[in-house]
Amino acid sequence: MARDSRETESATLPFDDLPAPRRSVEVVGEELPLLATRDDVYFPGQVFPLAVVRPQERDAVKAALAADRRVVVVATRLGASESPCPADFYSVGIVAEILSEPSGDGETEGMAILLEGVSRVRAEISGSCEMRRARVVPLAEPAAATGDPRLAALARTVRAGFEELTEESIGIPPDAVGAVRAEIDPLGLPNLVAPWLEAPVATKQALLEETHAERRLERLAALIQRERDNLRVDPILDDDSSDGGVWEELFQRLETAAPPLEIARRAESALKRLARAPASTAETEGLQHWIETLLSIPWNAEAEERVDLPEAERLLDAAHFGQESVKERLLEFLAVRKLAGNRLRPPLLCFVGAPGVGKTSVALSLAEALGRPCVRVALGGVRDEAEIRGHRRTYVGAMPGRIVAAIRQSGVKNPVIVLDELDKLASDLRGDPASALLEALDPEQNHAFHDHYLDVPLDLSQVLFVATANRADTILPALRDRLELVAFPSYTEREKVGIAQKHLLPRQREAHALEPGDLELTGETVRALIAGWTGEAGVRELERKLGALCRKAARKRAGGEEFAPPMPESLAEWLGPPPLRPDPLPPPGAVGVALGLAFTERGGETLPVECALTPGLPGETRLTVTGSAGEVLRESARTALSFLASNLDALGLTEGALSGRDVHIHFPSGATPKDGPSAGVAIACALASALLNRPLAPGLAMTGELTLRGQVLPIGGLRDKLLAARRSGVRTVLLPAENQAEIDALPPEVTDGLTLVAVRSGREALDRALSAN
Ligand code: ADP
Repeated sequence: MARDSRETESATLPFDDLPAPRRSVEVVGEELPLLATRDDVYFPGQVFPLAVVRPQERDAVKAALAADRRVVVVATRLGASESPCPADFYSVGIVAEILSEPSGDGETEGMAILLEGVSRVRAEISGSCEMRRARVVPLAEPAAATGDPRLAALARTVRAGFEELTEESIGIPPDAVGAVRAEIDPLGLPNLVAPWLEAPVATKQALLEETHAERRLERLAALIQRERDNLRVDPILDDDSSDGGVWEELFQRLETAAPPLEIARRAESALKRLARAPASTAETEGLQHWIETLLSIPWNAEAEERVDLPEAERLLDAAHFGQESVKERLLEFLAVRKLAGNRLRPPLLCFVGAPGVGKTSVALSLAEALGRPCVRVALGGVRDEAEIRGHRRTYVGAMPGRIVAAIRQSGVKNPVIVLDELDKLASDLRGDPASALLEALDPEQNHAFHDHYLDVPLDLSQVLFVATANRADTILPALRDRLELVAFPSYTEREKVGIAQKHLLPRQREAHALEPGDLELTGETVRALIAGWTGEAGVRELERKLGALCRKAARKRAGGEEFAPPMPESLAEWLGPPPLRPDPLPPPGAVGVALGLAFTERGGETLPVECALTPGLPGETRLTVTGSAGEVLRESARTALSFLASNLDALGLTEGALSGRDVHIHFPSGATPKDGPSAGVAIACALASALLNRPLAPGLAMTGELTLRGQVLPIGGLRDKLLAARRSGVRTVLLPAENQAEIDALPPEVTDGLTLVAVRSGREALDRALSAN
């Protein structure tokens, strides 16, 4: 691809011992958009493709296309970060012209542009890491030196060496040899020959930077010699030995895999290096592993998407009991896919709900309905960016990240990838996994996702990502902004019974080689199982318990034992006594305690609040908050105290009732740490009960945040909270009046047996909580 470049080379300054500038085409100090390359150094006259990956690069390409198509191309120093700063770039590069036309609508995203090097320049990059422009100053170029005997001798060495190299190596086309032969000017040789050499970036860069004519040719001759020496050490290419077999097989696989042009070129040059390498060393093994990884990527394999709406509905219904609103949303999603195909970017769905409410299984059904393979990527506890994006190949035992692993595992370039537990993605000193993930999800960037290990752009634009999370509010905001949240509510008892009988029990029976008749459970028994042995929003524990029943039944059956199916009263014989759970309801007559309701990542849960008053400093009221409370809960406690302090008259107390008393509010620790803005009312009630030394109404729970002025603010997770209240034996619940519309829409199976009292103000709540005494 190298071409004769004399026509376009520039010169403005005298060149060492060879003065006489040729001609100037550059204006000194002109500013051009900058492109940085990682793996190679390019030379004037060379025609080469580049993948345009990062937004800054896209901007640079756009800017160049809008102007005179010229950019400055510089190489990045070894070991530079993923977002290199000016100091990471070499200061000598080339001005190049963009040859290819941008595809499609004129956007340059995702394209591999073709460039042609024009001239060597010193690039003065200034400003921040975002800076993608450089002021270019042409580097001195010598005048033609056809008459210089020293240079002529060196030129002969270079030509001869290159011709021999061409015969020994593969991949250098006859055109290149022809061009080198035809070049009469010794100083024209480096730009023609260098592109064909396999030297490290730093070595090639030194050649590019060398302005002394003789030294430049010497360097070039030495490079050719080194490459020939390397080839001679182990000329596997001409060898039919077994090692050659590995090499050839990889070469064939490269042809079959047919990755995009630039990637094929990289793989090919790595294969050549592998073929030349002396023997099996850690380095060659690393190289081979990399090539194999590259070849195992499904560059072209694609699952054909089909959207058959009635079939999809049937599939979802068959796999999934209830969750009608979720199914409705998915069918809408599929309908849009059917109409728009790939023309529209699908929204990024995130299924949010407690564990075991069916998020993952629905995602699997969605993939099945689309006819695409589905792969899960677990994000829980991922803190290291390398887990998403892979390790750099210089690491011992380097591996690609999970996104690349998922694509390989799926075997197609358009799988459904389920990003599980997006809310558990952390970030710390080991880089920022979230921003790596954002790059994978961002339609602006994900056609050229960069994995450190793979080190070539990977197109993720055809992947359908679906995320799951237990809570939406703990998802990192930058990620959350991109998501369309689909709420998976907790199950009612009726739904759990249905799921158990229609899905979980048949599946468990089958997994334990039982016939349907071997183990049947009545609705009554399942309800007893749920009430006594499981205390969850979803059905995971329930599935485990059903598994345990099937195991025991299988044992009896295999032993030829006759047995009656478990009944509510015999469940304890099968499973052992139900686990003891502390009763969350305050004991009758207890003072200074209230039962709040929280919405945690496990669904709705009860949130007991305790309050004690102790003598303090005269005239002061100090507040202590302890227990499993987050910052928001602590704020709620402060606000609730201030609210009460300014409403003592409503409780029939004097203004000094709190003076000289210390207030201690405690949230007894539960299984899940709790936080969130809905405990103000419960805290105020516990405090009022302590101040008045009067218990609250029995069987009472409450939820709602209080403002300083005593307004009760609406809450989230209403249904989940009420289901948790029912599981705990609560009979009356105080709720924000502002949730009224939602309250009215609740199905009877959520509200049956509960008295719901909507309250507008803190005073109303206190009235009601203290009234029944
Ligand atoms: P999540 O991803 O929300 O934690 P899963 O999808 O893993 O939940 O569900 C846990 C188990 O319960 C799976 O075996 C799943 O098939 C089953 N399951 C959950 N919801 C339903 C449902 N509505 N119908 C049938 N099975 C369900």
